[in-house]
This record gives sequence, structure tokens and C-alpha cells, in this order.
Amino acid sequence: MADGFATRAIHAGRLPLPAEPPLAAPIWQTSTFVFDDAEHYAHTLHQPRQGYVYTRYENPTTAALEGTVANLEGAAEGLATASGMGAIATVLLSLAGAGDHVVAQRDLYGGTYSLLAHTAPRFGIEVSFVDAGDPDAVRAALRPSTRAVYAETVANPTLTVADLPALAEAAGQRGLPLVVDNTVASPYLCRPIEHGAAVVVHSATKYLGGHSDVVGGLALFAEPERHDAAWRAMIELGASPDPFAAWLVLRGVKTLALRMRAHGANARVLAELLDAHPKVARVHWPGLPGHPTARLAAKLLDGDPGMLSFDLEGGRAAGRRFIEATRVAKLAASLGSTETLVSHPASTTHRQFSPEALAAAGIGEGMVRVSVGLEDAADLAEDFTRALEVA
Ligand SMILES: *Cc1c(COP(=O)(O)O)cnc(C)c1O
Repeated sequence: MADGFATRAIHAGRLPLPAEPPLAAPIWQTSTFVFDDAEHYAHTLHQPRQGYVYTRYENPTTAALEGTVANLEGAAEGLATASGMGAIATVLLSLAGAGDHVVAQRDLYGGTYSLLAHTAPRFGIEVSFVDAGDPDAVRAALRPSTRAVYAETVANPTLTVADLPALAEAAGQRGLPLVVDNTVASPYLCRPIEHGAAVVVHSATKYLGGHSDVVGGLALFAEPERHDAAWRAMIELGASPDPFAAWLVLRGVKTLALRMRAHGANARVLAELLDAHPKVARVHWPGLPGHPTARLAAKLLDGDPGMLSFDLEGGRAAGRRFIEATRVAKLAASLGSTETLVSHPASTTHRQFSPEALAAAGIGEGMVRVSVGLEDAADLAEDFTRALEVA
């Protein structure tokens, strides 16, 4: 008997798997994959990289992204996640559990600081925050229960470049993994694994995606075993990305080199303009020789970063007037996109910080953070000059 109408509507279609591979990765927008053999199904379900069962576990579009960014970072394996925080939480919970301890840089991204300071203790994970510019302080904070050292390549908004080789050595002496958030540098400017990191995490929402149209994350692993542990944690935490989001990041990564060069060139124009302006007390940008980590930047970064921040002479009120006066630059959260974005950390991204933590992280009340976009440099210079008059 022939199949009925409804059955044919569901099953009659043949999915063409062409002998000629597509140039661009297809979006494998499916939640699940079909098996003939129960044993093959069971095996694939429990082993990473053995095939596809269910998109929360693995998906071909997501795997294409993981392979691409793992290659750029010089990693053995990559794991894409639904967001940068998804990657950070997954890595943290795959490395540490109740009774364990983590040593972390003090001036972290606000969300990461909050995860480590407030959520990690609820899972029984203790965290010590230290000045990551001081490897002796990192060494002194290590305990027998320490499971990882956590830092950011370029801290935001101070633009402090971490001494990755020194941190990797401090961690490595005790056999501990150095975990590095490489979001602000991107693999175009720095590959932390080359400097001894064991795990790299990214908010792919930023430079990797690059267009402010997707939220995503990635974790990259120097050793496959750490990938497998994080993969198992991610499956249970449910931090997996949607295939379309993974595809958008994959598309963005193709132009990462071009974009990073242009972000850096525009940032240099603005940094030099701000540095020479009487209303600006200080510019935080490691491409300027006066920055405390300018020499580390020259050693570890393959170019100029696209983020900068500066302190206005007029403090909190001036900072706020500036960010409300720009026309080309938009007042918005996030960074690393085609658009220039400005923010005032003390009242936005770092609001979770106590006044003491804010001061300890080197964030002034009049500090304006800029994610320099890809607009014409002359338009940005004009916009900033006018907003500085108002501030
Ligand atoms: C944005 C950001 C994150 C968090 O990423 P999401 O994609 O927003 O979850 C983590 N670290 C840094 C440095 C960031 O800028």
C-alpha cells in the first residue's frame, strides 16, 4: 500500500548530499540526525567527534566553526557555545567543583567577575582575585586545591596586556592550566596557546562575529582531553549554540584579519587625537608608548587593538556628557563590531563592581570606553572632537 499524504509530506523528500561540496558552509538547521544502527547511535552519543546525534551535542555547522577557530588559535580542539559566558561557565565547571579553588585576575570583564565572585562560590568553588600583572602574587595565591589560573589577554576597559608567558609559567610549575579570555585581542592579534595557555575562551559576539548580529562563544583547548571534559559539561549545562548563530560567526571570521587591521588603524587615529586633547587626562591604549603595558603589547600582540579608553578631566559628569554627545559613535553595550560604540563603565558594564573593586581595577569615574569601529577615520575624529567640546 502506498504511503498516505501526510506521511509523504514528511518523508518523501530526498535530502541531496551533493558530490560537489558547497563553497560556503551550509546551515545544518536540524535538531537531530538519523541512524540505521542502534550501536552506532549509542557510540556516537557518548564520544566526541564521532558523528552527529543531536545538535546540543554536535552539529556540522558548529563543527566547521570549531575547526576554523581552533586552527586560528593553534588549538587541538574547539568547542562553540551559545555565548561567551556559556564558554567561560562551561570551562570553569569542567575544571573545578566543590572544594576546589581558582586564581583569577582582578580586572576582569564584569560578567566573568560576577560569575567568579558570586556564582562560583554557590557551587563550592573558591576564587582568589589577584593583580595578574604580578606573577609573584599569582604564585602566592596558589593552594593545593587550586585547579586553574584565569586571565584576559587584554583587560577591558584598562587595556592592560597580561604577561601570558609569566602567568603560564606560574601555573605550569604546579601543573595547572592557564585559561585566557582572548576576546579583546582576537586570534588575529594574539594566540595565547603559543604563550603557554591551556585553554582560550572567546565571546564570539565581539570580533569573531564582528557585526553585532549574533551572540556566541568559543573555548579552544591545547589538549584534546580538556576539550572532551568541557564538551561533556556543555552538553549537561545546555550551553550549545544554534547552528544559525554558529554560521554567522563562521561568516564573520572570514574577514577577521581585514577588520582587525582596520579597527587598529582607526583606534590609532583616535588614541593620538585624544592623547593631544586638553580635556583628556589620560588615554589607555597599549599602542601609545606611555601605556604601562606598551612593551608587553609590542611583544605579544601582532598589531594595534581596536579598543581604547580615556579619562576625562571632568570626571563622572563629563563622561556621561561625552557618551550622550557623539553622533557617529553609538552608546551601546558590547564591542568588536563594525559600528563604533562608546560606554561609561562606572555606570554600565562594571556596575557590579564595588567602589573599591572599581578603583582596584583601575577604572576612573570619568573613564569612557571606546570600541573603535570601521567607519571613516575622518568622521570619527570629527565626532570625537565635537563631543569633547560638549564634555
Ligand atoms: C562580552 C564579553 C564576554 C561575555 O560574552 P557574551 O558573548 O556576552 O556572553 C566575556 N569576556 C569578554 C572580555 C567580553 O568582552
